[in-house]
Amino acid sequence: MTLNSTVQEAFFETENFPDTHEVTARSGKNPLIKLIDVWKIYRMGEVDFAALAGIDLEIYRGEFVVVLGPSGSGKSTLMNLLGCLDIPSKGTVFLDSRDISRLDESELARIRGQMIGFIFQSFNLIPTLNTLENVLLPLEFQEENPLRARERGEYLLEVVGLSDKKRNLPSQLSGGQRQRVAIARSLAVNPPIILADEPTGNLDSKTGDYILEFLAKLHEKEGKTIIIVTHDLDLVKHATRVVYLRDGKIEKIEHVNGKKHEGEMK
Ligand code: ADP
Ligand code: MG
Repeated sequence: MTLNSTVQEAFFETENFPDTHEVTARSGKNPLIKLIDVWKIYRMGEVDFAALAGIDLEIYRGEFVVVLGPSGSGKSTLMNLLGCLDIPSKGTVFLDSRDISRLDESELARIRGQMIGFIFQSFNLIPTLNTLENVLLPLEFQEENPLRARERGEYLLEVVGLSDKKRNLPSQLSGGQRQRVAIARSLAVNPPIILADEPTGNLDSKTGDYILEFLAKLHEKEGKTIIIVTHDLDLVKHATRVVYLRDGKIEKIEHVNGKKHEGEMK
C-alpha cells in the first residue's frame, strides 16, 4: 500500500478543520444524535416485520461507537436512521437537537450534508466521475468557492495517498483505493460525524486495518465522532462504546477501556 505518510502525519498534527459549523454549536452537552423508541417496520405482504424494534440511543460528540450485530440484525437500517437517510416508522430522531422528522427533505439534506460524512461497504462512488470529482461531490451542495473546494479535494487525496490517481475512474482503482477515495469524500465538508457501514467488509485485512487506523486517528486527533456498524469484532478495538444489536433491539451497551463520555456520566 502506497502511503504518503509525511503528508498524513502533518495532516493529523495540525488542526485542519476548525469547527465552523454553526449547526454543531447548538448541541453543547446535548447528544449529537438521539433516538427515542425508534421503530422501522417493513410490510412484507400481509405481515409487518420490525427491522428495528424500539431503539433508544444517544451519541455524543467525540465518541467512537461501534454497533455490532450479526447479519440481518438491523445494522444498515439503523445506520440509515442515524445518518438521517431514512425516517423511522415510529419514534423520534434528533440530529444536533433538531427533530429531523419535522424538517422537509431539502432542509434535511442540507443539515445532513454538513453534519455527516458517509462511508459504505461498497464504497458508493459515482462510476462516471473521476477520483477528484467524487471527493468534491458533497461540496456541490454547499456554498463553497470552486477553487477552494478543488484545493481541499486535492489536499484530502494527498492525505489518503492518492494524489497520483486524481483522474482515475473508480473502476481503475483497487478496493482499498476506492475506500480511501470514500474517506476523502467523507471529509470534504468537514463534518463532525463520520458514519461507516461495514467499511472494511470488502477489503483484505491489511487494507481494512489501514482504513480502521485512519478512522481512529480522525477520532483521536481531529475529534471526529465516529460511528461504525459492523458484524466484525475486529473493528471494536478503538471503540469507546460498543452497542450490541440483535433482532432489531439493543441487547447491551459496553464501555470500552473505561472510556466514558462526559455527557453520559450522570
Ligand atoms: P444488517 O445490516 O444488520 O445485515 P439490515 O438492516 O440490512 O441488517 O436488515 C435488517 C432486517 O430488515 C433484515 O431481516 C432484512 O431482510 C430486513 N429489511 C431490510 N430492508 C428491508 C426492506 N427494504 N424491506 C423489507 N425488509 C427489509
Ligand atoms: Mg448491513
